[in-house]
Amino acid sequence: MGGEFALIARHFTWPTRATDLGVGDDAALVSVAPGMQLAVSTDLLVGGTHFLPQTDPRRLGHKSLAVNLSDMAAMGATPRWATLALALPSADDRWVAEFSRGMHDLADAFATDLIGGDTTRGPLAICVTIFGEVPAGEALRRDGARLGDDVWVSGTLGDAAAGLACLASRAAADAAGRSLRAQLGEAAFDRCRERLEAPQPRVALGLALRGIAHSAIDVSDGFAADLGHVLDRSGVGARVEVARLPVSPALAGHIDHPVVRDAIVAGGDDYELCFTAPESFRARVEAAGQASGVPVTRVGTVVGGRGLSLVDAGGRAVVPARAGFDHFG
Ligand code: ADP
Ligand code: MG
Repeated sequence: MGGEFALIARHFTWPTRATDLGVGDDAALVSVAPGMQLAVSTDLLVGGTHFLPQTDPRRLGHKSLAVNLSDMAAMGATPRWATLALALPSADDRWVAEFSRGMHDLADAFATDLIGGDTTRGPLAICVTIFGEVPAGEALRRDGARLGDDVWVSGTLGDAAAGLACLASRAAADAAGRSLRAQLGEAAFDRCRERLEAPQPRVALGLALRGIAHSAIDVSDGFAADLGHVLDRSGVGARVEVARLPVSPALAGHIDHPVVRDAIVAGGDDYELCFTAPESFRARVEAAGQASGVPVTRVGTVVGGRGLSLVDAGGRAVVPARAGFDHFG
């Protein structure tokens, strides 16, 4: 790509904090502190699959890093370094400047250094790899849930998927999405859209949960699917009361809308944390939520058996319309 090096120099060469050698050489050099493990995670975002084609580039830059920061949060790791591989259809300087600003501002807020990447011409795709540090043996894993643990969720569920349903209904002949859009009104729609396009990773909460939570995952594919991964990996089941799942003020008046009902249980892209912790740690979990400025809600219990049972307030089984997002499902 013509101007590739100028583009990298202009938009992706930021001051670093904790990096021995950053952008500009054949590889970056970093030092992991003694006693720490390196937590590594990568996410690929493809235009048309993971984001709508006209998504605001600044929000896209934010989200591309946010989904990786969220993985660090879910591991209880401190984010340190990231790399960015970018395929761009053209070297649109204004677009790249906005994208870069969105990513830079979030990286700055979470003290994460951009240490390298790759830039090439192609259909718009963004791959960020993030590297974090966690004291050896202390990471929050998916396989640690134990019988009797409480199941917790941070923040609120369903906003992002509700926002997506509203946005997508513009393009497709989707009556349910359009009716939700009309029902929500402008302010609530904007808040849902912001949750979709500019999610706030729960890094402080993840760190505060070290030594408290037995297991954790971030809600990227939908609450039911993601808690399901924890249960599978841990070899346990869980019972969750649907009415206890936390809902935002934006959606509170609309929980009987079929799109919202589905979004809360199975909608993706919320980037909240779902975690389990022993009953004896309830006060400590609440304190971790307070300290990190994110409400936490107890929604159920880890039980014997396999899989997730969703129940209503009367204990009757609730069957969701779909389990969650699966690209090859
Ligand atoms: P090479 O081809 O030897 O891998 P490149 O010419 O692709 O090197 O990249 C030059 C430098 O710029 C490298 O340090 C690389 O990590 C960095 N870089 C390339 N693209 C990006 C990007 N999108 N964001 C951050 N750093 C980048
Ligand atoms: Mg290269």
